[in-house]
Amino acid sequence: MTGVLEGKVALVTGAGAGIGRAAALAFAAAGAHVVVADIDEEGGAATAQAIAQSGGEANFERVDVTNAADVNALIARTVEQFGRLDCAHNNAGVLGTVAPLIDSPDDNFDRVMDVNVKGVWLCLKAEIRQMLTQGGGAIVNTASSAGVKGSPTLPAYSASKHAVVGLTKSVALAYARDGIRVNAVCPGYVDTDLLDRLFAGEPERKERERLGTLLGRFGSAEEIAATVVWLCSDAASLMTAHALPVGTVV
Ligand code: NAD
Repeated sequence: MTGVLEGKVALVTGAGAGIGRAAALAFAAAGAHVVVADIDEEGGAATAQAIAQSGGEANFERVDVTNAADVNALIARTVEQFGRLDCAHNNAGVLGTVAPLIDSPDDNFDRVMDVNVKGVWLCLKAEIRQMLTQGGGAIVNTASSAGVKGSPTLPAYSASKHAVVGLTKSVALAYARDGIRVNAVCPGYVDTDLLDRLFAGEPERKERERLGTLLGRFGSAEEIAATVVWLCSDAASLMTAHALPVGTVV
């Protein structure tokens, strides 16, 4: 993958940990300047530092993706500093309460929708506006396998990720002829802190779920990152409006 995004400017939200951190590192390894965005300053700064240590270029921007002013300022600063935005990975997300519907509080629904759906909505708007002015770009949203099938103990999360898939497809259709490609990745289980939260206190269930995966193992954040970089590269120039399962069948 080295060099496929040479000279490009790439933004990754939720880049302070897990899949987003791996994606930020992968974008940098592919030659892009990476804007590392996260609400977690410590995690975000650590990602930017790891990129610098590996010889790449990155800067950290603190952002709460649920806040329109934050998101618009992030894109404005990116364009001010680097002149354009070629690739965006809208990845910040939260799992929320792990429980069936009647045991899930209503404010969990609001929180999960706010980060996972409104966050992607706001980022898409600001990114698309910029990409229209410069004549194109590529965007990847992180949905989930729970965005194409139900999950009994994650009703709000699953609903939010179905919404991300709907947003992805709708926005892709609207701007395809403007040279903007929009895709979603739908990972199965990926070995990150989020997975630890999902199976907290239930190591046996975690092991059962691992054995039931398509490949007999959880995916790594790096494997999702490689798919995201590929989707943003010219090698995927005909790919748009996809909700692509990664490491799973749906
Ligand atoms: P993670 O918890 O390790 O990382 C999520 C990152 O998002 C954190 O750095 C966090 O600070 C950031 N974030 C949360 N709220 C934010 C906000 N309001 N503004 C900005 N940043 C915010 O999780 P992960 O496993 O790396 O998940 C990344 C994405 O992948 C999420 O959208 C998640 O739903 C999705 N996903 C994860 C898995 C999995 O098994 N790990 C599977 C499918 C999809």
